[in-house]
Amino acid sequence: MHYDWGDVHALHDFCGTPADDKPLAEIWYGTHRGGPSRLEDGTLLEDVVAPRRIGAHVDGFPYLAKLIAPAKPLSIQVHPSIEEAEAGFDRENELGIPLDAPNRVFVDRNHKPEMLLALTPWRTLVGFAPELELIRFNEEVATPLSLHIASLIREQGLERPAASALRDGLKPPIEYVEEYARRCTALASHSDPAIAKRASMLEFVHSFFPGQSSLLVAALMNILDLEPGQALFTPAGTIHSYLSGVGFEVMSSSANTIRAGLTNKHIDVEGLLSTANLHPSVPMLVEPVEHPECGSQVLTYQPAVEDFRLDIADASDDALLGTATADTVVVAIDGEGLVNDQALARGSAMWIPANGKFELRGAVKVAVVSIADGPIVWSVAH
Ligand SMILES: [Zn+2]
Repeated sequence: MHYDWGDVHALHDFCGTPADDKPLAEIWYGTHRGGPSRLEDGTLLEDVVAPRRIGAHVDGFPYLAKLIAPAKPLSIQVHPSIEEAEAGFDRENELGIPLDAPNRVFVDRNHKPEMLLALTPWRTLVGFAPELELIRFNEEVATPLSLHIASLIREQGLERPAASALRDGLKPPIEYVEEYARRCTALASHSDPAIAKRASMLEFVHSFFPGQSSLLVAALMNILDLEPGQALFTPAGTIHSYLSGVGFEVMSSSANTIRAGLTNKHIDVEGLLSTANLHPSVPMLVEPVEHPECGSQVLTYQPAVEDFRLDIADASDDALLGTATADTVVVAIDGEGLVNDQALARGSAMWIPANGKFELRGAVKVAVVSIADGPIVWSVAH
């Protein structure tokens, strides 16, 4: 997927494919009609799995996996719950908005909780930050606009100022936003690391969206840095914007995204406000669990969602055997080795149907995606 926020080189470097001049934002693995995967012989994966519907809400795979590499901030966005997706999809159909129209928000009837596993250092904005931290930062910025924001949060809490920032209801004159951004550049080397981090994040965001007052939404959000191997779960209603890094993302099979800023795409602020949690929240990290027999060679990331689970399997110490109990996708993410005697280059994937077996040999590390009640049965190969 060549979205304009994608990095030109990162995913090509990752997969060892030659870069062209187009940003390569995402590579999709799944059956979503927005970018369906094909088998080596050209067969649509969807045609092979469709007769065996495995998700409650969609045909084909209930999940969608992606390699993702932003070079600039993604839009500030939330994803809907199932109920919101169904209502929104039907409403837009009744209004006669074509599925591919730029102002179409709901392109399927599914929710889209998502989990991001960092493959390189990864930075994201997720949820709103604690009020005291935001008051302190804005007082340190000390411009008329930032002092106004600090006093609004102090007097009203975060919810109303956050809604106002999303609606552009703060209506700041553009020179006030520019002054705010200039102060952030000056504060990027502040001795307090929390102030320096927020200031440099805002300097980064502003460099791509000069003059956009949605900078003030970014200014209110949590900044989360993930190390490789750490994972973030983003449930319905949590506002987020991925900033930089290379990651492996797993989500329910959906492309329903309600956007409210930092984008040239259609924005739906009222839709976002009806869905988003505007209170401060703590990012939901997903702790990996080691396999009882295979130890740290197999790590399972299972957030509170039925539609997907993720195992990271590393065969560099011992070869591993896996048996799928549901439709499973195996994506090579590091090293070199064999999957079922086939060399699988980084970024390449293999579909394993339910009851199918697969063997990992050599220094290959793979991401294995299936559903929560379709776990892989793992063992060490001898
Ligand atoms: Zn998202």
